[in-house]
Amino acid sequence: MLSSTLKSKRCSFCHSVFMPARPMQAVCSPICARRQVAEKRVEERAQIVTRKEAIKTLPVLKAEAQKAFNAWVRARDAALPCISCGAPPPDLTKLHAGRDAGHYRSVGSAAHLRYHEDNVHGQCVHCNQFRSGNAVDYRIGLIARIGAARVEVLESDNQVRKFTADELRAIRAAYRAKLKQIQKDSP
Ligand SMILES: [Zn+2]
Ligand SMILES: [Zn+2]
Repeated sequence: MLSSTLKSKRCSFCHSVFMPARPMQAVCSPICARRQVAEKRVEERAQIVTRKEAIKTLPVLKAEAQKAFNAWVRARDAALPCISCGAPPPDLTKLHAGRDAGHYRSVGSAAHLRYHEDNVHGQCVHCNQFRSGNAVDYRIGLIARIGAARVEVLESDNQVRKFTADELRAIRAAYRAKLKQIQKDSP
């Protein structure tokens, strides 16, 4: 008799003791077999994500951190007028809402301020993309919003800063979380 030659063992998935119906049977039931396959798939997918993350270059991580940061800026300033021309907040039911995250000191000339909360504000697409950021009016709007002292701090900040991969990942994670918090708080 086959069953008498097999000894009871522990299910490799749920760890309960069971009597195998055939040799090499590792799990107690079809349910555990399915769950084990599903769990392995999840693990494999997670490993792929981890591997992909590990080989990301600095430019890729910079862009991802910027995307997360900018999305948060747009959400933070969603109810505010354009920082430079004062255009009223746009209709938020529209995609992207016609609003950019506009840098006061540009990423090109002041890369160390690319994720600085005082340096980036909700700006209408017209000002940001067609009027080169509308810098003169931006300064006036910025002083009105954060005060002259903080604007001067920004303007005199010329410390070169290099972001490491892990710093960029931390920035990306922090602003994704901050965006989620805003979305949770505003119904
Ligand atoms: Zn089991
Ligand atoms: Zn504008």
